[in-house]
Formats: sequence, C-alpha cells, structure tokens
Amino acid sequence: MALSYRMLNIAGAPAGLLGLEELFQELFDQDIRLEDASLDSRLLEGVRKHNYVPKSAITHYQQALRAAYGDYYRQKQGGKAVVARAYGTWRGYPREHIPWFPTISEALCTQCGACKDVCARPVFDWDENGKIWVAEPFLCLVGCCFCKSVCEPKALFFPGQELLKNYPEKM
Ligand code: SF4
Ligand code: SF4
Repeated sequence: MALSYRMLNIAGAPAGLLGLEELFQELFDQDIRLEDASLDSRLLEGVRKHNYVPKSAITHYQQALRAAYGDYYRQKQGGKAVVARAYGTWRGYPREHIPWFPTISEALCTQCGACKDVCARPVFDWDENGKIWVAEPFLCLVGCCFCKSVCEPKALFFPGQELLKNYPEKM
C-alpha cells in the first residue's frame, strides 16, 4: 500500500513527508504521549525511514513533528478519526507526483492575504506566527496561476507550463 503524503511547515518552508500518518498511528498505538522523553527521537527516526532530513534542520523538524503529533494525539484521544488526505490523480498520475503549486518568496511577500482570498481551495493558510504559507500544495489546480495575478509584489512563483508536457495523458 502506498505511504501517506503530507506537507509540514518546517521553519516557514513547506516540506512534503512520506509515511507521517503511519508513524503517528504507530506511536499512538504504543501509547507514546507528548511528555514521553523518547518522543522527539522516535519521531525523527520514524521520519528518516522514508524522508531525507538535513542535519542542519533537525531541531526545526523536531519542533514541527512534535506539534503535528500533538494535534494528531489530541484528535485521536477525542475519538476523532484522522484520515490521510487523498489528492487524486491528474492525467492518470498521482497528484503528488506533479510539482505544480505556488512558492512564496519570503523576501517579497507582504502578508496581505490576497492569494488566500482568491483561491477557491485551501492551498494557502496562516501559520502559528501569522505568516502565509503553502499548506496544501497538492490541492492546487494543475495549470492554474490565478493567485499569481493578484499578488502585487510578485511574490508567487510557479513552474513554467512546459513542465506539464512531461506528463502526457496515460492511456
Ligand atoms: S498575495 Fe502575495 S504578497 Fe499577498 S500574502 Fe499572498 S504571496 Fe504574500
Ligand atoms: S494556482 Fe489557482 S488553485 Fe493554485 S493556489 Fe493559486 S489560485 Fe489556488
């Protein structure tokens, strides 16, 4: 079975991680709580099974993973089912395989929120520090650039349309 795929905000930048839902489920089933001294190392070790974590970013990863596991743990304890998101396909390819989504230039972005307001999908969100980020890149409609046109400081970037030629319709 394919591993789940999910974006986390790691120190202000989106990072796509494989197998996070499975890891959280495993830790929860083993009753690993937020105050457990081994939590940080177990999260990191689990994530590294399927993802590359740069040494210089370990602390940021651990902070983001701890926060995400905290949310997961509280939802599960509250009896809510936590379901990994399915992004569907585009021209027959899993949507997560198509690198089409906006990237925000932190240097240019004024945090006006116009991109979030115009997008009909929950692609953008505010992070805990009140900064806009691309929370769900794979909900972005492949080929669309609408938000780019409303970004006055030109802080949004997309791949060129020619990228899409690499994905011919699958029979
Ligand atoms: S529209 Fe542009 S400047 Fe405004 S929040 Fe979005 S990316 Fe930042
Ligand atoms: S390109 Fe279109 S679908 Fe994608 S984030 Fe911008 S407005 Fe939303």
